[in-house]
Amino acid sequence: MSRYAKQSLFLGEASQLKIAHASVAIVGLGATGSVLAQWLARAGIGTLHLIDRDFVEISNLQRQLLYDESDIGQPKALAAEKKLRSINSSIKIYAHVVDLVPDNAEKLLSHADVIGDGSDNFDARFLMNDVSIRHRIPWVYSGAVGSEGMVWPIHPPATPCFRCLMEQPPEQADIDTCDTAGVLGPVTGLVGSWAATEILKFVVDEPPQPDLIRLDQWSNERQFIHAPTDRCRFCLEGITEFLDTPWQIKTSALCGTPGVQLRVNPARDLDLISLSNRLKYRKDSDWKRTPLFIQGKEGDVAITIFKDGRMIFRGDILPERAQHWFHEVLG
Ligand SMILES: [Zn+2]
Repeated sequence: MSRYAKQSLFLGEASQLKIAHASVAIVGLGATGSVLAQWLARAGIGTLHLIDRDFVEISNLQRQLLYDESDIGQPKALAAEKKLRSINSSIKIYAHVVDLVPDNAEKLLSHADVIGDGSDNFDARFLMNDVSIRHRIPWVYSGAVGSEGMVWPIHPPATPCFRCLMEQPPEQADIDTCDTAGVLGPVTGLVGSWAATEILKFVVDEPPQPDLIRLDQWSNERQFIHAPTDRCRFCLEGITEFLDTPWQIKTSALCGTPGVQLRVNPARDLDLISLSNRLKYRKDSDWKRTPLFIQGKEGDVAITIFKDGRMIFRGDILPERAQHWFHEVLG
């Protein structure tokens, strides 16, 4: 019996061949991304690209099914790659420990046949949408918060794009983030499974579910929301503002803990050895080094500097001060 016998019985051998030749990029290997990646690896998607900037934390284990306690502290993309290889050694898996930014989005995503959204932020989703518009690649939006989930397959010009529904990313204050709402593990599982099914449909050239699906598993609701019939000018005219707007630094508040995240575009490739040596002499502080980041303290603020230039400041610090520190240290 072949590995894919049950799936081939349902989809047919021709579809199984399409799956074997397909390449899917998954942005975000958190809760929904874990489920997406696992179904796609088990289904035999020929090439998987795993893109995630974060490291496994104990608070992830409640819902992020790819990881266990031995992965804590590891980059999610690498831990996911290892786990998925143990599930299916016959497919190609590439891990990318990077922040998705305008400068690298096309390089990371434009070769894929389908893009899966396992992210938790609108910056990443508007970039995926732009790559989808420019390269005519389908992507499947998914999101989960509290007991609610949403899934929407997007493939302009055949379908509306994400900006037909939402022209701009919402203001940070308008979003129910993990900070205020939390999330139920099984709901992320449902959302990830639903999105994985839609990705498989794209891969085997079946028409995707046309509506935006919204479910609330705690109050037993299902909604199939008709996509907007009027197309936005962005997908009509091929305008890709998020890819084309080269911001250099963005800061945002951390989720659930005081602090600031600082993101950099284009991504840097820092020499962490010389940087940690330089920082040691700055205020005679100790800097711990791994191949992918260095960690130390200035005053009461704990700072992590990633190889791609992204920084996380934990403690009482204003975004302006974090930016100032970045320029002081990296120029
Ligand atoms: Zn549109």
